[in-house]
Amino acid sequence: MTTKSAAAAARATVYGYPRQGRGRELKKAVEGYWKGRVSAAALHATAAELRRSNWQELAAAGVDEVPTGDFSYYDHVLDASVMVGAVPERHRAAVAADALDGYFAMARGTQDVAPLEMTKWFDTNYHYLVPELGPDSVFTADSTKQVAEVTEALALGLTPRPVLVGPVTYLLLAKPAPGVAADFDPLTLLDRLLPVYAEVLADLRAAGAAWVQLDEPALVQDRTSAELNAADRAYRVLGTLADRPKLLVASYFGRLGAALPTLAAAPVDGLALDFTESAAANLDALAAVGGLTGKRLVAGVVNGRNIWANDLEKSLATLGTLLGLADHVDVAASCSLLHVPLDAALERDVDPQILRWLSFARQKVAEVVALAKGLALGTDAITAELTANRAALASRATSPITRDPAVRARAEAVTDADARRSRPYRERTVAQRERLGLPLLPTTTIGSFPQTDELRVARADLRAGRIDTAGYEERIRAEIAEVLSFQEKTGLDVLVHGEPERNDMVQYFAEQLTGYLATQHGWVQSYGTRYVRPPILAGDISRPEPMTVRWTTYAQSLTDRPVKGMLTGPVTMLAWSFVRDDQPLGDTARQVALALRDEVDDLEAAGTSVIQVDEPALRETLPLRAADRPAYLAWATEAFRLTTGGVAPGTQIHTHMCYAEFGDIVQAIDDLDADVISLEATRSHMQVAGELASHGYPREAGPGVWDIHSPRVPSVEEAAALLRTGLEGIPAERLWVNPDCGLKTRGWAETRASLEHLVAAARTVRAELRPS
Ligand code: GLN
Ligand code: ZN
Repeated sequence: MTTKSAAAAARATVYGYPRQGRGRELKKAVEGYWKGRVSAAALHATAAELRRSNWQELAAAGVDEVPTGDFSYYDHVLDASVMVGAVPERHRAAVAADALDGYFAMARGTQDVAPLEMTKWFDTNYHYLVPELGPDSVFTADSTKQVAEVTEALALGLTPRPVLVGPVTYLLLAKPAPGVAADFDPLTLLDRLLPVYAEVLADLRAAGAAWVQLDEPALVQDRTSAELNAADRAYRVLGTLADRPKLLVASYFGRLGAALPTLAAAPVDGLALDFTESAAANLDALAAVGGLTGKRLVAGVVNGRNIWANDLEKSLATLGTLLGLADHVDVAASCSLLHVPLDAALERDVDPQILRWLSFARQKVAEVVALAKGLALGTDAITAELTANRAALASRATSPITRDPAVRARAEAVTDADARRSRPYRERTVAQRERLGLPLLPTTTIGSFPQTDELRVARADLRAGRIDTAGYEERIRAEIAEVLSFQEKTGLDVLVHGEPERNDMVQYFAEQLTGYLATQHGWVQSYGTRYVRPPILAGDISRPEPMTVRWTTYAQSLTDRPVKGMLTGPVTMLAWSFVRDDQPLGDTARQVALALRDEVDDLEAAGTSVIQVDEPALRETLPLRAADRPAYLAWATEAFRLTTGGVAPGTQIHTHMCYAEFGDIVQAIDDLDADVISLEATRSHMQVAGELASHGYPREAGPGVWDIHSPRVPSVEEAAALLRTGLEGIPAERLWVNPDCGLKTRGWAETRASLEHLVAAARTVRAELRPS
């Protein structure tokens, strides 16, 4: 065992860093370029300056190898598509005319050409652009961007390690291009792709990169033996190239499982593994293959996607174990720091007590560097860091913020019965029919109405002190009144108040719940130039007072028709926040569910007969591996039922989800036991109705008949045709009529016309159902 030398040489590194800059310079420059206010040269200059300052910051903090190529004008998977020449046919002319404009055309589309599809990057909230491939795809190497960044970093006297999306993950993330058979498997293109990667690797080596990192996060998902064979072949080919840089194959977001023996045996020079949540599984798997001999192990011990201070002693213990399993151990964050905000020190409004529990990108780099130092020189070399870390962890563990006895006692006392409606659906529906008196095919909307400029101005005026709270609320009430009167006039059956008071469906509630923390500068890239500031589930959650009752009862006072109460569900609250790492997710979900249950109960007590609890994120937090899904779905559905389980049979519970592919969670949707579910369905032509039917879904459903992602107004006939299709799967007594999702991103003009058409379509189809 070469423990001593392995430890002595420990290096600190990361795989990527937040791109936007302290003042969100990148966002401003890119958007400015789109609007014609910033020249291409100025945009390139801003980008180069951001890269320089990031790298120098990393180097100054003690990072030995800086990542290059992780920077992107829009998305690193799109960059990979450009690197291998996978430009869709429809974008070729634009790319040929101007590389930068063509790049943005692929990302965002143009008047005439559709962009690449966008989807979630594994189970994070980052979205990438999906490569489009087909049997005729031809790859060509374009290493310009990668080589340029290596050259820039070398010129600054730094040691660059280019980070590329690995070939196997690239193909596994790809989809058949439009017009290509849906069963086309992009992985069949591997042998065509590898020579292109070989060319890029040779260019990078020639440019001066000693190491190149190939990211293969797709290998932490369940993979078939064909896929594992592809990984084996890919790294056998790349690993045996003559004259190549050293190769580090990186995995993150979970355990490698069956792919670990494959990569451990591959002729590459290093492996990066995630030792955060999947530490035990990866340690066992490493031990099972007899450790990594002759390879560099990069240990991702600092969680790169949460915002909590690392437990340095625990990480050192893991690193110590790893010294027995590899010839050379380096220290890293578990994944790119793209997924966390830049710097916790920018948060001036956070209680300093809590601030030391937090670790954003900058703090994580310091943790990685300290751990590498501790590993190389012994813990004496980092006494100060260990002492401060121990104190921060102790203060978090014992703080009244993280330990609210009342919240804990209540969560512990939850029984099965609390998470169950008192009567089964078939009895509830009778009570609800009687109470609500709705027609067949009742019409409704998903909740939000257009967020107008006036509303944004009102919010800005309030923030700037130009109006007071009373003035602001006056404007909100006026908006609600307008939304109500429009819905009555249009003839909708179940109305909404329109959500004008909400800035965001998670933040609005987070701001009112005790135990949640908001940040001022905690921006994280969602996609392209869109950044979000997820709130932080910092402590035990409770609801000091009602959050929505006022607005819902005001809206209800304006009409005789039922107005839906509108809440964001517990699973979505977790999914779009930073979650606690000091207790199981299910425990946090249960606390949030109990707080929301109070709101549901208060709405009911105030006379609300229909309450919608949105869970658009239920599917997106589905664990990457099938083996982990049942446990997730168990706590997730329990949290929803706990939120809604306290109401009387005659109170109708709705839920909403905005995706069309939900085959793998249809049982979970059933387990929510909501009386009504609205789903996105327009683009898939009501496919969900058939899927619900074949599952035997017993309750009511509203597959959407208006695609709200497009400004297009559906005609009455189109909506009616979709309803008729819906009726093939769902009987008329259980079919609702609604748009795909909320209307907050739409304008009033198309909202008016579309909802009129939707109501007319419902009437048309109702008339067809009535026996003449
Ligand atoms: N009620 C929310 C709205 O209508 C739901 C949004 C969502 O599903 N993402 O805006
Ligand atoms: Zn939606």
